[in-house]
Amino acid sequence: MCGIVGYVGDRDACPIIIKGLKRLEYRGYDSAGVAIVNDKGELNVFKCKGKVSGLEEFISEKDTRGCVGIAHTRWATHGEPSDRNAHPHYSASGNLALIHNGIIENFRVLKDALIQNGYTFKSSTDSEVLVNLIEYVKQSNDCSLEEAVRLALKQVVGAYAIAVVERGNNSRIVAARQSSPMVIGIGKGEYFLSSDAASIIDYTNDFAYLNDGEIAVIEKGKDLEIKTLDNEDGHLDIRRLELSISQLEKGGYPHFMLKEIHEQPNTIVDCIRGRINPETLEVYLSGVALNKEKFLNAGRIIFVACGTSWHASLIGEHIFENMCRIPVEVEYASEFRYRNPIIRKDDIVIAVSQSGETADTLAALEIAKKAGAFVYGICNAVGSSIARVTDSGTYIHVGPEIGVASTKAFTGQVTVMAMMALCIAQMKGTMTEEQRHAVVRDMLRLPEITKEVLSTDSVIADLAKIFTYAHNFIYLGRGYNYPTALEGALKLKEISYIHAEGYPAAEMKHGPIALIDTEMPTVVIATPDHTHDKTVSNMEEIKARGGKIIAVMAHGDEHASKSADYVIEVPVCSECLMPIVVSIPLQLLAYYIAVYKGRNVDQPRNLAKSVTVE
Ligand code: GLU
Repeated sequence: MCGIVGYVGDRDACPIIIKGLKRLEYRGYDSAGVAIVNDKGELNVFKCKGKVSGLEEFISEKDTRGCVGIAHTRWATHGEPSDRNAHPHYSASGNLALIHNGIIENFRVLKDALIQNGYTFKSSTDSEVLVNLIEYVKQSNDCSLEEAVRLALKQVVGAYAIAVVERGNNSRIVAARQSSPMVIGIGKGEYFLSSDAASIIDYTNDFAYLNDGEIAVIEKGKDLEIKTLDNEDGHLDIRRLELSISQLEKGGYPHFMLKEIHEQPNTIVDCIRGRINPETLEVYLSGVALNKEKFLNAGRIIFVACGTSWHASLIGEHIFENMCRIPVEVEYASEFRYRNPIIRKDDIVIAVSQSGETADTLAALEIAKKAGAFVYGICNAVGSSIARVTDSGTYIHVGPEIGVASTKAFTGQVTVMAMMALCIAQMKGTMTEEQRHAVVRDMLRLPEITKEVLSTDSVIADLAKIFTYAHNFIYLGRGYNYPTALEGALKLKEISYIHAEGYPAAEMKHGPIALIDTEMPTVVIATPDHTHDKTVSNMEEIKARGGKIIAVMAHGDEHASKSADYVIEVPVCSECLMPIVVSIPLQLLAYYIAVYKGRNVDQPRNLAKSVTVE
């Protein structure tokens, strides 16, 4: 959350950082701002409440020339979204300006101490405390900016990615990180800085990934200088990232979310590419194969995740238990990390996160690592923090996901989990070759199957029109598709602001059925499985109480359709892959309901992607 970007070089910084900021808006859009140091060494901050487009308009008449700049798009944690709480924040003297992504947990103590020393504050943010602390340390020690940043950060508890510029210095940015993402793009005689490499991919493919507790001095025409908070030399981790710019654009779609939903047949191809041999039908994942002993001897698998990734992990639980016969637990990372969990040396802890930067998931991983477990990552963003701290892992390779509501990452995560389980099942002999090959054959058909599902786009759009009136929705499913019901409900909540709950279909009788009336639609996932008849009975129970039912069911399933008011028909494949098939119409349903309600689908209120705060 919060996007930060910076530039140092010979070019005009403002257009570059504004462009970067636009690509980071998925991380927050409460306010936006820039700080520029111009040729004369003057430091100017321009900022306002609202989106980057508003900032662009605001600065259009201003003199924003200058070759050093930092910029911020905010997802507020401390202080309401407003002009005064927008970043960058000036220090009290106006000599420094800072942008911050994260939370300073001990900001009250630090703020009180600074007030005692005569400092006054203009905003209610924790971030302004940081810039004043740096200034205070700099003045009291009469030291350089980087030394002041280092000494100040030693007093700070919390998470941060910060960038600071200084009046009078038009060639340098000082940046630091602890538990929030930050990469430095390396150009020819120039540097870029961002929360996400994708936002600056137009300018360079070479990135230095800053590690926790490191400070970087980014100076025009000089080598990068990286120090730790203890003033030791830091570790320069430079990687090359290939990404096409078209992946970051809407490509003719009205929203990123719709583009990403429709990309799924291709993203599934990218996800399985090079990992399945179409002739032998064997699956090869290096992360699993190279750690064969770990997986063979695993006493338990623990998934740690948040949000949509947590739902994918619940599907993973079914997949791994059924196919590999390994006991699985699924944990909310934010609960796990504070719960004194029991972690054994033969546990495998799998962190699932699209961005690879989710703060709680990262913290949960650290705990698991300390306890001696083998830690594995399932991420999308290449080079992300989770990808770097885990012992091994598998990328989902679905390309940048920009819509705040996750879609293609979810189907990619489930695809990777199924591939992992197939690999392990082969090593452990928990499935026959025939059983494994049947799943692999269906996995290879998934691009075609998902294309077929997407061809019903207009049918679902028509259905969505009927239900824009609803204030509440229930989603029901069983087995593999209970988590799909949770995910369907989450999609609707996130982007349409309609209250929606997912339940295991049989649980409905234990309470939620009391909510059923003619105004409360229920989406029932009723695709074929060994509990199909029971699910159809649940539909009848709803019908008997006047509830309206939308059934997601197999083509031509007369049994289910007789109990439904509306149907969404989908093709059928192996049960463990059905959540991938079923989730697509649910994504479309949520999308169209939100569009008809006039919601901002890509930037829903109060939300942001890549939750780097706890
Ligand atoms: N804590 C800072 C603020 O509220 C930054 C928030 C964030 O990074 O999400 O302004």
